[in-house]
Amino acid sequence: MTHYGEQIVPGFAYRFEGEQLLSERSAFQQIDVYENASFGRLLMLDGLTQTTERDEFIYHEMLVHVPLISLENPRRVLIIGGGDGGTLRRVLEHPSVEQAVMVEIDERVTQVCRELMPSIAGDAFDDPRADVLFADGIAYVRGGGEPFDAILIDSSDPVGPGEGLFTVDFYRAALARLTDGGVLCAQSGSPGFQQDELHRTYAHVSGVFPDTRVYVGFVPTYPGGMWSFTLAGSRLSLDQVVAAARASERKLSTRYWRPELQRGAFDVPQIVNDVIAPDGPPQTWGLSPAEHERG
Ligand code: SAM
Repeated sequence: MTHYGEQIVPGFAYRFEGEQLLSERSAFQQIDVYENASFGRLLMLDGLTQTTERDEFIYHEMLVHVPLISLENPRRVLIIGGGDGGTLRRVLEHPSVEQAVMVEIDERVTQVCRELMPSIAGDAFDDPRADVLFADGIAYVRGGGEPFDAILIDSSDPVGPGEGLFTVDFYRAALARLTDGGVLCAQSGSPGFQQDELHRTYAHVSGVFPDTRVYVGFVPTYPGGMWSFTLAGSRLSLDQVVAAARASERKLSTRYWRPELQRGAFDVPQIVNDVIAPDGPPQTWGLSPAEHERG
């Protein structure tokens, strides 16, 4: 029995236990896969929990359906990161999608997930509408080309290869790759324990997109449970009646997202508003290592 997990803040850690199925260093990051009695198989990158077979649907439904339901007819979608295929699978559930391009920097993540955690992607990688590229999403976005109706940033945290995905320059380049009325949605971390990440993501995105809003979902295996997403566009449409009609037309089958969340998920706790305020973020729920050092 192996014990593994994440040190969240000094004195508070997540601990899982179970068999380790794989541990290797790719050209980009440490990749570990474990078996867990409650969450099934679990992927960690550089020691940070990415996704588990049991609760992956929460994050992937919320990262995909909120932006795509906000669009009347999403045809071309770009996914940055998302190596496990969970985001790609949900994008392809929207019948109007003609092409889903997934740009994942680390081919080993996809190979490992297809082999050890196939339930997350289902048959998404074999869908003729899926284009999977193994490249840097930053360079891809900057490289120009046909615009997208939605750009979904399913990246790891802003460390290592993911760091450049949280910059104003990147968001400007992403805006240039969107159709008129297109939307960008980025996972923006824990409002409780990664307040700098959320603050910075919101500040940078809202500096580029006129309509930028934060919403939350609750992922049991992520630090603190509450997870934030930053949605941006020129004028976001988040009406739940329209969302219900679109979800019904598209025959979406969901276990977490529902039309009421198309608006309700944006009614965030005050701490989220405090974190994204210009003078934010306030102290984290637990002292960050730097704050702990300062005492
Ligand atoms: N979808 C999972 C979840 O539920 O949170 C986790 C996200 S996915 C595993 C994060 C991916 O982003 C990793 O596979 C990582 O290799 C990829 N990534 C990080 N930086 C990238 C970049 N600059 N371009 C493309 N992919 C990147």
